[in-house]
Amino acid sequence: MERQPRWDDVKKELSRGRAAGRAGPWLLGTSLAAGLLVALAGRSPSAGLTMLVPGALLWLILRATTQPRCPACGAGLFVRGDRPGTAARPREVRVERERRCPACGVSFV
Ligand SMILES: [Zn+2]
Repeated sequence: MERQPRWDDVKKELSRGRAAGRAGPWLLGTSLAAGLLVALAGRSPSAGLTMLVPGALLWLILRATTQPRCPACGAGLFVRGDRPGTAARPREVRVERERRCPACGVSFV
């Protein structure tokens, strides 16, 4: 018997995703600044580029692990074209309007 996905769980997933949406640009900005600083200080653009690698990796991991997922099928809940906003200023996405999973179509109660 499959557990009926609860809307509360979905809301938690969405707010987790929005919090990560804030961290993403911050992480990118920080690693860009670090790369620039190293490139300027060492007068070596390649050393600066090397500094970007850990930041980019972290960002990829962050994206992969914080994407909100459907409790039933595991598909991502932000669909293409959604602009979920941030935790402080959320914008309504399709899942919140329909209360259904965009991938498997299960309704959240
Ligand atoms: Zn689903």
